[in-house]
Amino acid sequence: MEVIKVSPRGYCQGVVRAINIARKAAADHPGENIYMLGMIVHNRFIVDAFEKLGIICLEDSSRTRLQLLEDIPSGIVIFTAHGVSDQVYRRAAEKGLQCIDATCPDVRKTHDLVREHTADADVIYIGKHRHPEAEGVIGISDRVYLVSDIAEADALPELKDPLITCQTTLSLIDTADLIQHCLQRFPNARVMNEICNATTVRQQAVLDLQDTDALFVVGDPHSNNSRQLKNAGTKAGIPHTYLLESVLDLREEMLTGVRRAAVTSGSSTPSVLTEQLIRTLQAYAETGILTLPASTPEKVF
Ligand code: SF4
Repeated sequence: MEVIKVSPRGYCQGVVRAINIARKAAADHPGENIYMLGMIVHNRFIVDAFEKLGIICLEDSSRTRLQLLEDIPSGIVIFTAHGVSDQVYRRAAEKGLQCIDATCPDVRKTHDLVREHTADADVIYIGKHRHPEAEGVIGISDRVYLVSDIAEADALPELKDPLITCQTTLSLIDTADLIQHCLQRFPNARVMNEICNATTVRQQAVLDLQDTDALFVVGDPHSNNSRQLKNAGTKAGIPHTYLLESVLDLREEMLTGVRRAAVTSGSSTPSVLTEQLIRTLQAYAETGILTLPASTPEKVF
């Protein structure tokens, strides 16, 4: 079996920046109450590592960031790479919390675009319901219409020459299709595709794979960009695609009959987890025996 290391893969600049901001917060404020408003990036291993540093992660997918904020009595709050709405900034200030903002600059750019456009027009925002990034954008103005599929696009009210934009970590192909669908209804709409460069190049590298029997994406099930890499593998015609949290999810039957196995990882996945999977697959390729490590690496950053 040949093991293909897809490139680029793994950490993006926005994730590295968010991790460094949170590490600095822990180092600068020893013994203080520090809360993360949601997962700093969508990866359980990174969140667990921060909890060991004393940072408390408030995560509940059934509650908004604004609702989670009410659980913080005092101290420091870290806003995650996905960004938060203006209401969250205001409420945190009212509560007297010290805010540390790890919003990715690419997400902030989308916020600025939407804020500018909603001053006198409507925005169709293609994104995922209940995703924190979409929550942050729709909180900017009630002139933002969240659309996640064709049925929702068809149900939009009459809008005059809206802006069509999107979440940063969506599928390249599905989003292009949905934008085209919206343009049939609103032919004069302006389009600003905000899928970030890190997402684009990682998905394109998977879409370009040839003659590959299996794709292994290392990533957290909560990570939209990781799920979209698996989706890109399916669109590239790869017969078997898997999203693994770590090498410990690997099973022998996934490798049966596989001649070429490609490995990639989401932009929030610690590199050590991806390297561990690659080493395990390479050993299997040499020996024909699958030997899983006893555990994942202790240190993820
Ligand atoms: S995936 Fe894109 S938007 Fe998300 S943190 Fe990375 S660079 Fe920023």
